[in-house]
Amino acid sequence: MEYAEDDYLMISGIQHFKFCRRQWALIHVEQQWEENTHTVVGELMHKKVHDPYLTEKRKDTIIVRSLPVASRKLGISGECDLVEFHKCEDGIKLYKHRGLYSVYPIEYKKGKPKLMEEDKLQLVAQALCLEEMFSTQVLEGAIFYGETRRREVVKITEDLRQEVQKMFQEMHQYYDRKYTPKVKYSKACKACSLKEICLPRLGKSVSVKTYISQMLKEEEA
Ligand code: SF4
Repeated sequence: MEYAEDDYLMISGIQHFKFCRRQWALIHVEQQWEENTHTVVGELMHKKVHDPYLTEKRKDTIIVRSLPVASRKLGISGECDLVEFHKCEDGIKLYKHRGLYSVYPIEYKKGKPKLMEEDKLQLVAQALCLEEMFSTQVLEGAIFYGETRRREVVKITEDLRQEVQKMFQEMHQYYDRKYTPKVKYSKACKACSLKEICLPRLGKSVSVKTYISQMLKEEEA
């Protein structure tokens, strides 16, 4: 099966979906968004990566920034922060460049290296798009962490590929049904950028009156 472009979902949504399915639905189905320091720092860092010069050549590597990518099979689109094309014996041909190249996506993240599952899934989704676009195999990519300025290598394993495919199928189903899962309070709620919109404690069968009085007490404290 192939998706029409109008039905494409954002690749970056897979991070929200992994973190909390309700968070993803609030952002992508209901289009709510709460800015906090996490999202602002993240955006600034992305802006730096997305500076205007797009292609650069360093020895045997061609570097492309902000490369738009998509997959018809998965029904997704987005942008790779950076893709390196490494000269190799057995790879793809690139327009206006001699030789053959392998494809190596790199995703930028603000914090310290923690190789969170969410970050890996996003990178794997990008790798699957690149495979479809260039008819090649992407075996590896990396996540670059801003705080340490180091790359952590991620293998594009069969398990990760399957997890990504399943998650996007589920996301398409939610999106088509315009479905937002109910609140399921967890540790993640404390760090959630949408907690004020989502009202996790309200979903834990606290009455509106109790919820508001709790909020007021916290503000006074
Ligand atoms: S507050 Fe909790 S339940 Fe609500 S969207 Fe965030 S993580 Fe999900």
